[in-house]
Amino acid sequence: MTPNPYAMALAQYDGAVKHLSLKRGILEYLRAPKRELTVNFPVKMDDRSVRIFTGYRVHHSTARGPTKGGIRYHPDVTLDEVRALAMWMTWKCAVMNLPFGGAKGGVICDPKQLSLQELENLTRRYATEISILMSPEGDIPAPDVNTTPQIMAWIMDTYSMHRGYSVPAVVTGKPVAVGGSLGRAEATGRGVLVATREALARLNLPLKDARVAVQGFGNVGNVSAVLLHAAGARIVAVSDSRGGTRNPRGLDPLAVLRHKGESGRVSDFPDGEPIDNQELLITDCDILIPAALEQQITAANADRVRAKLVVEGANGPTTPEADVILGARGVLVVPDILANAGGVLVSYFEWVQDLQSFSWSEEEINERLERLMARAFGEVAAAAASRGADLRTAALIRAIERVAEAVMIRGIYP
Ligand code: NAD
Repeated sequence: MTPNPYAMALAQYDGAVKHLSLKRGILEYLRAPKRELTVNFPVKMDDRSVRIFTGYRVHHSTARGPTKGGIRYHPDVTLDEVRALAMWMTWKCAVMNLPFGGAKGGVICDPKQLSLQELENLTRRYATEISILMSPEGDIPAPDVNTTPQIMAWIMDTYSMHRGYSVPAVVTGKPVAVGGSLGRAEATGRGVLVATREALARLNLPLKDARVAVQGFGNVGNVSAVLLHAAGARIVAVSDSRGGTRNPRGLDPLAVLRHKGESGRVSDFPDGEPIDNQELLITDCDILIPAALEQQITAANADRVRAKLVVEGANGPTTPEADVILGARGVLVVPDILANAGGVLVSYFEWVQDLQSFSWSEEEINERLERLMARAFGEVAAAAASRGADLRTAALIRAIERVAEAVMIRGIYP
């Protein structure tokens, strides 16, 4: 049976710490979230009724700095999912050596069923409810599934209204007009491109004409597809929550994006054949990029994945059982905490720019992103080679070591 995402995150942690000789107290400390907030809050709907929504904000660790992590709007959000995503954020920030701990937030809702006004009301009230945890020095949210730059702007505005002055550094992923960073919208996809390039170099495979399948056509998936296509790869299949489209000769991701804008889905793209999401994962390709939700590659389909390389745009798309199957079959997996770290990296740049009231050019942002992503990849690959571990375990080992070191140097208060 597929465990829930938190059980998965714990299993990954338990596997990685076997390679380390950390004291039991530290192991237990890093295994549990530091704090968890559940909020039930009212929202005024367009028909003047009031609905109660439930949301969460979880801080996993503050050992290395303020907590950082996105906010997800989805009907299937659970506290355990948010806990898992918060823990993965701690490791991701540590892999990238950013001065942040991990957090995540979520609201149980279906944003497709809400009007723009209801979405704004929900966002402003949720932001107010979690403002006891949120601040530029304490906890800085960002976008995740179904949350957008506009939603980040509402969060920034709500927090600023309570303070009485603008506080852009309280949230990242904002529109550039209100303190967002150039390059942030594309950052996660650009990081996926760098991770893919680095992995292919180690497999001695060219990016040119490599066949790529992308699951999920949102912020991460569509930018990854567009940038990989521009870099010479052939996008053979893409999908969203309503199904996918395949064309072995190659799809133009910008045309698919335009089509999705018009029809609301990718599956009826005229230049491709419709496929479902399960078929996408096992379609004939060289590189598979899961960029939707957790637990997509599982014991049930990992033996049929035909890609030689899996680059995790999404968080937690591969279960521990599937990792074992893929590893035994020689499929290289670039783990989420490395592959999709471009987003939090440029979120860090955004926060730094906001704190300084100073902005960097897009070239500067992209150059720093490429350099730091490639460096982190190199460090993780070297750790994997020296320990005889896979990339996920190596990335976790490096991250856990860094967080444990911070905990030990800070000491236990009081
Ligand atoms: P998004 O809301 O922009 O896009 C999500 C996409 O996934 C949509 O196209 C949706 O239709 C599709 N989808 C949903 N369920 C699906 C399913 N069962 N099968 C196929 N497609 C499905 O979200 P996003 O920001 O692109 O996030 C996607 C993933 O990337 C998540 O795991 C998120 O945690 C992770 N991530 C996001 C960022 C970021 O900067 N936005 C950074 C790092 C990691």
